[in-house]
Amino acid sequence: MNKRVGLVVDDRLLKHVIPRHSPENPGRIGKLSALVRERYRTECRFYQARTAAVSDIEAVHSRFYLDQLREHQLRSEPFSYDRDTYLMKHSLATAHLAAGGCLELADRIMTGEVDHGFAMIRPPGHHAEPGRGMGFCILNNVAVTAEYLRRRYQLNRILILDFDAHHGNGTQEVFYDSDEVLVISVHQRDIFPFSGKAGETGSGKGEGYTINLPVFAQFGDAEYTFLLGRILQSVVEQYLPQILLISAGYDGHRDETISGTTLSTEWFGLITAMLKQYAREICGGRLLMVLEGGYNPLSLGASVVATIDSLLTARRDKIGIFFSERANQLLKDHPLHNRWALQ
Ligand SMILES: [Zn+2]
Repeated sequence: MNKRVGLVVDDRLLKHVIPRHSPENPGRIGKLSALVRERYRTECRFYQARTAAVSDIEAVHSRFYLDQLREHQLRSEPFSYDRDTYLMKHSLATAHLAAGGCLELADRIMTGEVDHGFAMIRPPGHHAEPGRGMGFCILNNVAVTAEYLRRRYQLNRILILDFDAHHGNGTQEVFYDSDEVLVISVHQRDIFPFSGKAGETGSGKGEGYTINLPVFAQFGDAEYTFLLGRILQSVVEQYLPQILLISAGYDGHRDETISGTTLSTEWFGLITAMLKQYAREICGGRLLMVLEGGYNPLSLGASVVATIDSLLTARRDKIGIFFSERANQLLKDHPLHNRWALQ
């Protein structure tokens, strides 16, 4: 069988454990790892994570921050950046593996060994800023990957789509001045980290290349599909990305208590099908999905399975997009409405 989907599943990613009860714990993906290995044994290529090189991390994070991380790592007591972001004995090594797992898949996609990849990694990354960790995130996995793709493969049109329920503030900060990485974040408004307003649109050369879509709680499948369908159609066809990188967060699921949005398990399969279709049409199928949030192990597990199933399956029916007045209003009012012809 010609295996075109690559997965990073690695039990060493379970070693990062924080000292108090946290929704971001190894149990999120512990059982799921075993299930995924078994379910996709014959259909997918499996890869171990690798340790990201310091130079790859330094392309995104400040040396001061990395020195600070190393110093805390040497001490025996836990250190925390905020009430969610701890550094324990294995944390830094695990974070390097998580970022390296994404780089491993990026290489496999760029060399044509697979078309699509899903990196089932933790800790997540999209909140980590160049100079600090926050919101469970230590290193910004997707930003490290985009930087790596720019330097290693000279890509200069990379699209990052972040559909985690929370704004990808770290990713935004890394690429705020750049037109070589276009960052789209759709997230619930007025929740952590309280950034990602529609008016944050990039600066300098990057003006117009940060697109924030802060949505209302109660937005669900219909609104998200309409919104992303329209955005992708406008932006992907104009920007012509060379690869799609997805910050795949599952905490917008209706069974998550951490957000108010009401996405279904099936929606994660549907958005994956849509992304795959664009990747095929525009960039030779190159699609790399990176796990971010998702804290209810049941809905996370089912939604990750829906995602991977969708990466594997050719969808024959056309994806139904139904008009949503509230989502349409967000596009009409968006400051980049004219820039990207968002309608
Ligand atoms: Zn989140």
